[in-house]
This record gives sequence, C-alpha cells and structure tokens, in this order.
Amino acid sequence: MILCRLLFECYQDTQLAAAEEAIGLYLAALRDQGQIQGREFATLMEEGGFEAHVLCPEPRSLHPDFASHQVQQAERGLHQAGLLAPKVKVLGQELFSDETDPCATPDGLIFFTSFLHTCSPIRCAKHFAPVPLYRLPSLSNGDQKQLIHWQEDWQACDQLQMNGSVLQHAATQEISNLDSDLSRRGRKLAQRLAEQVARPVYYYLYRLGGTSLAEEKNRRCPGCGGHWLLAEPWHGLFDFCCPQCQLVSNLSWDWRD
Ligand SMILES: [Zn+2]
Ligand SMILES: [Zn+2]
Repeated sequence: MILCRLLFECYQDTQLAAAEEAIGLYLAALRDQGQIQGREFATLMEEGGFEAHVLCPEPRSLHPDFASHQVQQAERGLHQAGLLAPKVKVLGQELFSDETDPCATPDGLIFFTSFLHTCSPIRCAKHFAPVPLYRLPSLSNGDQKQLIHWQEDWQACDQLQMNGSVLQHAATQEISNLDSDLSRRGRKLAQRLAEQVARPVYYYLYRLGGTSLAEEKNRRCPGCGGHWLLAEPWHGLFDFCCPQCQLVSNLSWDWRD
C-alpha cells in the first residue's frame, strides 16, 4: 500500500468544527469506496489548512476517475465548509502491507480477509494479491460500503476467536459455517460480484476443530457434499476448493502442519 498526504487548504474563513466534520465525511466516503484503507487517519491542523495521512492501494487511488458519487458529494461538502479539494502528495510504499494485485482484469477473485489485514478483502485468484475495490463494480448504492461492512464483521469475529476470551464459539461459527448470517451475506455479495464480472468469485470458509487429520481430509464440501480436497494447497492456504459452489477452505488449523 501507498502512504499519501492530503492537504486541505482553506479558501475562506473556516469554522474548525465545520471543517473537521467535512474532512471526516470526505475520508469516510473515500474509505467506503476502497480508495483509502484502514481506520485511523492521522490529521493535523496546519497554517492555512489541514493535513491527513492515508493509506491507498495504489499511487493513483485518489484520482477523481475512481470517485463514487458519495465521494463527489463529500467533496462539495468540503467547499461548503470553506476548504478546497485536497492536494495529494504520494509519500511512498508502506513497508508492512500487502502489494496490490497487478492484473488489469483478474481471471477470478477470492473473498478473503483476516483480523491482520487492512487491505481489500477481494483478492486475485491467480496472484492472491488484494484488488482495489474501486476497480470492481459497485455492490452497494454506488460505492463498496456493503463489502467493507462485511469485512469489518469478518475481522471482528476473527479477532474474537483469536483472542479466545469472549464470544469465541459464536464468532468462530460465523466465519466457518456456510449458513451463518455472515457467510450468507458474504456469499450473496460474492455471487452478485461474480454475475457482474462474469468470472468465478470464491468465498473462504474458516475451519477449526475436528477430531482427527484423517477425518478432516475426508471433509466434504458443505455446499454440495462433493469431494473438494486438493492435491496441493492453493496459495499455500486453501486445502479445499469446490469450483461448483465457489467455496474454498483450509484443513482445520488444529490439524494442519
Ligand atoms: Zn492478479
Ligand atoms: Zn460444492
């Protein structure tokens, strides 16, 4: 990911509260479109304006071509608060984040996230690299808010099951079971995306527990009941894949090497 600085200059007398609110709404709209990622955007007041630091998937992520109508509307909100549209300075590659997928049009996609990832929850099936959400058709009302909410819920469940102190069982069920509310929501989004891009979109089901390695290897696809164990793990992570149901999963983390 790329670290960028946004400079919001005041062009008329600006009330601090109005400027803060307009910048907050603008950053939220960029986030809902996948143009910036993460949750915390360090923002400073400078002489003559404000400065926010954001993480973007690519150097061009903040180009107006990628703006949703919500981003455009939030930009008008900046003007009403006495601020100009921000000037963007690309500061450089952030060291500890995933590199964005190089494909112009990936052959297939995978819904995958974890509590550790701030990048896009949609990955290229070939490179397993995150695909910027603004490059995909909108699955919400013009932006990608529904996908981002699904990702936040998945990450929250993953965090609870990793910490193991509260709600561990319920959280694990949400990310593991085909019929959980979270999986149903995520798969609906994956199916809608697959229709729009006319390519396969796989959905990842987490797997923990089980009674033995042999039994885990015999696990059947929860969608169709078919065999889905792969000879070699796909991307070193997915031991199971059902092309028909467009599901992937891992050998239980309790039994995996
Ligand atoms: Zn790719
Ligand atoms: Zn299946």
